[in-house]
Amino acid sequence: MRRISVFGATGSIGVNTLDLVARSGDQVDALTGGRNVALLAEQARRHGAALAVTAHPECYADLKAALAGSGTEAAAGPDALLEAAERPADWIMSAIVGAAGLAPGFRALAQGTTLALANKESLVTAGPLLMAEARRQGATILPVDSEHSAIFQALRGEDMATVERVIITASGGPFRDWSAERIAKASPAEAVAHPNWAMGQRISIDSASMFNKALEVIETKEFFGIESNRIEVLVHPQSIVHALVGFCDGGLMAHLGPADMRHAIGFALHWPARGPVPVERLDLARLCELRFQAPDEARFPALRLAREVMAAGGMAGAVFNAAKEVALDHFIARAIPFNAMAEVVEETLTRLSAAEGFTSAPDSLDSVLAMDHLARKGAADVIAGRPTQQG
Ligand code: NAD
Ligand code: MG
Repeated sequence: MRRISVFGATGSIGVNTLDLVARSGDQVDALTGGRNVALLAEQARRHGAALAVTAHPECYADLKAALAGSGTEAAAGPDALLEAAERPADWIMSAIVGAAGLAPGFRALAQGTTLALANKESLVTAGPLLMAEARRQGATILPVDSEHSAIFQALRGEDMATVERVIITASGGPFRDWSAERIAKASPAEAVAHPNWAMGQRISIDSASMFNKALEVIETKEFFGIESNRIEVLVHPQSIVHALVGFCDGGLMAHLGPADMRHAIGFALHWPARGPVPVERLDLARLCELRFQAPDEARFPALRLAREVMAAGGMAGAVFNAAKEVALDHFIARAIPFNAMAEVVEETLTRLSAAEGFTSAPDSLDSVLAMDHLARKGAADVIAGRPTQQG
């Protein structure tokens, strides 16, 4: 029986992870969440967790009360999250959303554990640092993003020197066929309505803007060490093929699966073996056909920005992600329109490119967090300087 901890247990990935852990019979050690302490406490009771941590100190009293008599210890705040990451565990899920997931995941690597990485922002903001730390500590990082799990599976037993290209697919999101004018005025409710996947609010909106795919292209480069000009994006509205790897002999290995994150989570949970996962089985005869089309970078500029970020290197990924998170917050609060998110990110990148340390590769967690902080301030300034605000 392994000991398992889940960071971001109350989110979409966290809930799916616990669904599989309940079936695997592993022992749950630490669970973390945000303000949803009722769910966190319920999960801790159901899985007999030793520790439950809320990220917010002001939620501590509620969590402690909800855990009364359960035998689960309660803790709160960013330091408690880091302490939870230090607790010995054989398998740790990193599924906090946003740059907030970086520090706990990084800390977990120090114990040489297996880190299942759903938090794509970790690789985008600090890829070289994270991968080097994993090597140094003898830790294993397993990709959980569906496209990256797909690449990882297609690459099994292959020689990386024979890989010509990697193609990740994108559903195109809810605005795939919308005009630029209509996209510009889209509301948060429209953006969150993903056609194929049930996910958290933030990643759903990032899918609509294709910032999610932009993050994933960078994630591919950082995790697999594949040059950016060998990474392609293909719009595939059905979300059945998650990624393809092209080899030097012209062959393409495609990974197909249902649009259910439990496949990718389950692959990481059972790795290096394959274990049973209760997802729907594909009926390809019923599907009849699979459709693919090239992405439209005019309507979805995030993809172009991703390439610029990879070309810039250094801290560009940290700036890109932080500016995107701030722009997303403002879009959710209806303070900026949908199409302004990409404009804010681009302008923040331009302004920050002159900042000290922008061109240096991330060499410490502190330097990444400092750049993240600077970029958040920069993005807020860009937004404050915009001529008109949406009502
Ligand atoms: P979610 O919003 O549903 O859940 C996020 C979790 O993080 C919750 O437990 C929340 O309490 C916690 N959290 C939020 N802010 C926090 C903070 N500041 N400090 C500590 N904890 C905090 O998100 P999700 O959809 O489950 O996604 C989680 C991560 O996995 C993201 O990085 C996302 O990009 C990635 N991912 C998700 C999916 C998916 O299908 N949902 C697919 C691929 C990758
Ligand atoms: Mg994905």
